[in-house]
Amino acid sequence: MYNCRAFEAKEEEIPIANVDTAWATVMNKRTFIRLFAAVIASPVISPLLARASNNKLQNWAGNLKYSTDRLYSANSLEQVRSYVKKQSKLKVLGTRHCFNNIADSTDNFLSLRSMVKVLALEPEAHTVTVDAGMTYGQLCPLLHNKGFALHNLASLPHISIAGAISTATHGSGEKNGNLATAVSALEIVTAVGEVVKLSRQQDGEAFRGAVVGLGSLGVITKITLDIQPTFLMRQYVYENLPLTEVKDNFDAIQSSRYSVSLFTDWQNQRISEVWIKSRVEEGQAFDATPEFFGAKRATKKLHPIAELSAENCTAQMGVPGPWYERLPHFRMGFTPSAGKELQTEYFVPRQHAVEAILAVERLRDQVSPHLMISEIRTIAADNLWLSPCYEQPCVTIHFTWVQDWPAVRKLLPLIEKELAPFKARPHWGKLFTMSPKELKSVYRRLPDFIQLSKKLDPQGKFRNDFLSTNVFSS
Ligand SMILES: Cc1cc2nc3c(=O)[nH]c(=O)nc-3n(C[C@H](O)[C@H](O)[C@H](O)COP(=O)(O)OP(=O)(O)OC[C@H]3O[C@@H](n4cnc5c(N)ncnc54)[C@H](O)[C@@H]3O)c2cc1C
Repeated sequence: MYNCRAFEAKEEEIPIANVDTAWATVMNKRTFIRLFAAVIASPVISPLLARASNNKLQNWAGNLKYSTDRLYSANSLEQVRSYVKKQSKLKVLGTRHCFNNIADSTDNFLSLRSMVKVLALEPEAHTVTVDAGMTYGQLCPLLHNKGFALHNLASLPHISIAGAISTATHGSGEKNGNLATAVSALEIVTAVGEVVKLSRQQDGEAFRGAVVGLGSLGVITKITLDIQPTFLMRQYVYENLPLTEVKDNFDAIQSSRYSVSLFTDWQNQRISEVWIKSRVEEGQAFDATPEFFGAKRATKKLHPIAELSAENCTAQMGVPGPWYERLPHFRMGFTPSAGKELQTEYFVPRQHAVEAILAVERLRDQVSPHLMISEIRTIAADNLWLSPCYEQPCVTIHFTWVQDWPAVRKLLPLIEKELAPFKARPHWGKLFTMSPKELKSVYRRLPDFIQLSKKLDPQGKFRNDFLSTNVFSS
């Protein structure tokens, strides 16, 4: 279970981006959207978030103040090794984009943010090896300039590659695995400061257990990723897709192009926006018909929350551009999403997609007052032990909530109950209330993962409250 007690204890003290907590709690969705429409249109960091950075160390959304400010920034493998040897407990902090306490530590943080080099680009092996502090936003333009691309990206490029793969972060596309599936090798500094190398080719099960490692196996210092020749993409948005079309044609809709995302507020029996990202291949340009399963092609650029300015979003209206400027929904250099928010996401086996979507739609009256927007995506199956898509293709149902944890905490068990018959798995980096027992029943390889963790980190140096509760108590 997401560690609610720790969260509750902190909740009262958290200055949520300098906004009074009581005020934030009563703020409803409309007020929130009005206030933030102005704030997020500004480049790089909103003033609210900038002020928040002067406060205690906290996560990106500002909903979680970390339990220590002791942070050491390493510049080299040797510094990582010597720091790890000296500490009895620590966690690596990536770009702090998780919404729960998976990255938290009461003892020490290690940051690799200044380790951001491309170490090797090997066109013949179709791989790139990078320092683990690098973000996708840093890597992608460099790759593109050398003529290469990654297979997929999340909704934003701002996140660290190591943090993203550690939580099985994903994008969309029936044939696209999550971002961790691009990993072909890892270098990890273990609890005793030893350097371990694991590769897809040589280490079989240990590698498949380690890639989605929840930060519990050691410090990832280098990552090798699969690459492919660079490509251009176009993005179109369609508005008002009737829910009946989702019921009758979900497979056709989702498989229509390289990446398809459905955004909905669950109101009025319709999907408010369909984001379609297609590769510009010779002779296969997407025929952007005025209608798509009853939805109408947008006549202007849109944010997933239609009331917000689309300035932060990647180019739409079919303008071709490099893959890394179309696969994410949000542009580098701007605040992604809404900023002050909470997120939850469940992965449902692909064959139950429509039933699961309808089950959530039935909760619309409870969900809607607290929801900013939901997104529905599809992801290919993989073989990584703790990936929610382990041996099953999935549909994901995502919720961006107004930042009101007491209300969201009451809602999550209702959603989880509706999705339980489908054996839904929660996103490791977002908020959930499922119990450790439930997690164990849906993440079948947890016992193997615990064994692997115990080999690499027998004393639990990299364990925190989140891991002790959700992984090691099972
Ligand atoms: C606005 C927004 C949009 C998002 N969109 C998506 C999306 O489209 N799809 C999706 O799936 N998720 C999405 N997420 C969630 C996000 O991708 C994950 O939370 C991801 O883990 C963030 O990476 P991070 O580096 O910020 O992680 P952090 O929160 O910093 O850390 C996450 C975990 O990784 C571990 N870790 C980080 N670096 C290392 C390292 N070098 N070695 C070992 N362990 C390490 C940490 O210890 C921790 O356990 C979104 C989040 C936000 C805020």
